[in-house]
Amino acid sequence: MALQVILARVRAAEAAAGRILGSVQLIAVSKVQPDARVREVLEAGHRLFGENYVQEAQAKWPGFRAEFGSVAVHMIGPLQTNKAKLAVELFDAIHTVDRASLAEKLAKLAQARGRCPQLFVQVNTGAEPQKAGVLPEALDGFIADCRAMDLSLAGLMCIPPEAEASGPHFTALAAMAARNGLAGLSMGMSGDFEAAIAAGATHVRVGSAIFGARRYG
Ligand SMILES: *Cc1c(COP(=O)(O)O)cnc(C)c1O
Repeated sequence: MALQVILARVRAAEAAAGRILGSVQLIAVSKVQPDARVREVLEAGHRLFGENYVQEAQAKWPGFRAEFGSVAVHMIGPLQTNKAKLAVELFDAIHTVDRASLAEKLAKLAQARGRCPQLFVQVNTGAEPQKAGVLPEALDGFIADCRAMDLSLAGLMCIPPEAEASGPHFTALAAMAARNGLAGLSMGMSGDFEAAIAAGATHVRVGSAIFGARRYG
């Protein structure tokens, strides 16, 4: 199945980049996919998935988790502050921390619960007006603010502009993570995950190459 092909490509890209085999986590992005396709990937043994919408994830994952045991699900879509509580209960990681109000809410929830999902700060590396994410020039200050709230960060995430080569964005994100002492790099999708691995990605988010094209509506 496509999952095995993509896993093999991830391992080959790790080897080509001189990375430790298994050091890159493949997040199978299951948003909007029919349950039957998700089930096939679970039955093949995969246990790490990505979702974009809190409500969709809430409808889908409690049942699959009851059936398949522990499955890690990462939130990779924009997160409204009023859904943060649901999100920290549902997800093992949130890749889209992109503003102070959300960071403050997550810090409060972490304190109340005594634990918190892994957190990635989304960076708008292309400074695109329509795209979420902290602007590169504001990033170091934002990270310092998060740390001042006792919010522990796992890494950075980006979605490069569609019309540009991704490579320079991946390299730039890796440099921002390194200078802030962050190990996690969530970058690379179906079309460019090998380039992301070459640039140091620790988490690649691959949807359509595993599940087939998404059909909305
Ligand atoms: C949908 C989505 C992906 C997966 O995209 P594909 O091109 O289908 O691999 C990855 N990251 C984010 C943030 C997404 O919204």
